Amino acid sequence: MIEMQNVRKKYSNGTTAIKDLTVKVEAGEFVYVVGPSGAGKSSFIKMMYREEKATSGQINVCGYNLMKLKDKKVPLLRREIGIVFQDYKLIPSKTVYENVAYAMEVIGKRPREIRRRVNEVLGLVGLSHKAKSFPSQLSGGEQQRAAIARAIVNVPKLLIADEPTGNLDPENSWEIMKLLEKINTQGTTIVMATHNSTIVNTIRHRVIAIEEGQIIRDQYEGEYGYDD
Ligand code: ADP
Ligand code: ADP
Repeated sequence: MIEMQNVRKKYSNGTTAIKDLTVKVEAGEFVYVVGPSGAGKSSFIKMMYREEKATSGQINVCGYNLMKLKDKKVPLLRREIGIVFQDYKLIPSKTVYENVAYAMEVIGKRPREIRRRVNEVLGLVGLSHKAKSFPSQLSGGEQQRAAIARAIVNVPKLLIADEPTGNLDPENSWEIMKLLEKINTQGTTIVMATHNSTIVNTIRHRVIAIEEGQIIRDQYEGEYGYDD
């Protein structure tokens, strides 16, 4: 699903965020990415969906060679990937239904299929009753569930989540984790950056720890390993 070989990321201001990183993630895995602030977690994750380009090395994601992938082909890669952010990034002027439907409209799905599938995923995330609400009318947990519905509506092979519970209280965080677990069980590979030690230590999965741009630990059913 993801293969990185000797990947380096140096930003134009001279900061080297990732140094000689090599890693493989197989289809179906659930991977936590942990580490201190500034360690390179976001840079690592952003390279997976070509939000950032690696400076050198090799990256393959969902069968695409990202070092050779032309910018105009990036939307093809993104069709295979769902992305969830800490701050949800829903479109404020669209309802929950419209936010989710839009992800299917932009790839040219038929109206009938859109209606069927949007209602199905809103049911899956428990938001059928909020379909006509706007994001500002939802709690944080509900907004994140809407964002997850949008991320999975096109049945991605890979779901990338950058601090998905970062703005949520513990109860809503567990709700989000229950959903991600279900999505993973149904076959979607998940990569999740997180600072939530309780979650990592309770729902055990592979843990990749990054410090100073390098993987310093890679452990199946690993623990969080930091005090924060
Ligand atoms: P984390 O997600 O673990 O906090 P980041 O990948 O955001 O780490 O950052 C790793 C390093 O790269 C930090 O030193 C950060 O300041 C730097 N960095 C991140 N994004 C940029 C950018 N767009 N331009 C320059 N430096 C950046
Ligand atoms: P939480 O318990 O996560 O803090 P809130 O108190 O924000 O949730 O919201 C509780 C319920 O009220 C949620 O179902 C939410 O959708 C609804 N709600 C919150 N704000 C509004 C609003 N401005 N208009 C309509 N419904 C709202």
